[in-house]
Amino acid sequence: NKNEKKVDYKFYDSNLNVILLQKAKIENRLRNAIENNELRLHYQPQVNLNTGEVIGVEALIRWQNSELGHVSPGEFIPIAEESGLIKPIGKWVLQTACKQNKAWQDAGLPPMNMSVNVSRSQLFNKGFLNTVNQVIERTQLDPKYLELEITESSRNDIEELISMLKQLKEIGFKIALDDFGTGYSSLSILDDIPLDNLKIDRSFIQDISKDKNKTALVKNIINIGNDLNLNIIAEGIETTEQHNFLKQNNCNIGQGYLFERPVSGEKIEQLLNVNKVS
Ligand code: C2E
Ligand code: CA
Ligand code: CA
Ligand code: CA
Repeated sequence: NKNEKKVDYKFYDSNLNVILLQKAKIENRLRNAIENNELRLHYQPQVNLNTGEVIGVEALIRWQNSELGHVSPGEFIPIAEESGLIKPIGKWVLQTACKQNKAWQDAGLPPMNMSVNVSRSQLFNKGFLNTVNQVIERTQLDPKYLELEITESSRNDIEELISMLKQLKEIGFKIALDDFGTGYSSLSILDDIPLDNLKIDRSFIQDISKDKNKTALVKNIINIGNDLNLNIIAEGIETTEQHNFLKQNNCNIGQGYLFERPVSGEKIEQLLNVNKVS
């Protein structure tokens, strides 16, 4: 028995080491990802749930490294946040997304929304306003076609968040609250912070008509959002049943594998051109 305990402990210890080593490796490799041209953006269409029309896209980062292979943003974004690498990476994302959206407009495609995920550590960085101003100046994209997706904030930085969002809205950007329902803040945040769109988290959409309480919650979130004049965007729609439920309950915009996975910019262009002809 004594021996078993010892083995268990060692097992745990070496596991932890593997995790730390992997994190260090990711951070190390991530440091050169921009200059080595290893980052890409994929884009997931945001769809009008009643007409099927694509009204925008969400930019989602992809990273392919020669040694590590494909690393998902769920794994490397938190490491980028801890290490400060989120600053140059976030800037690269904004620059690339705005440039792409402007290029689509210049090519004659109907102007649409580009949503970009912004980490809290990025948003609260002193240089953030400078960065977005610079990107807009360089790309010449009208700021109303850029939406910043932020996540729920904790109570203690809510004042700072409101002040930052007001300045961003003054420039002309749109603001969406991402992953709504998963954080710790209450509904009152919706009234406190300046928002355009509210994104209901995928975990709620998944449980539609499987879990009574969650289904009721989704209905209520949509109603409250509509009362506050917010557009409601449902994340992660995978089934026609979910799609129909959302339509019937006045949620008008959605994203999910049912419509399209995140795809390359070229693929988006093809999709939009096909839609234009038909
Ligand atoms: P998110 O902002 O909530 O993005 C939605 C995630 O759900 C994406 O995962 C997307 O590919 C996935 N998804 C979309 N539709 C469906 C569906 O129907 N079913 C399922 N199962 N999944 C769906 P992804 O691309 O792996 O990104 C994960 C997270 O990483 C994002 O969650 C976001 O928080 C973060 N992230 C991604 N790109 C960026 C970025 O450029 N900057 C920052 N700061 N964070 C990013
Ligand atoms: Ca998002
Ligand atoms: Ca989400
Ligand atoms: Ca998120």
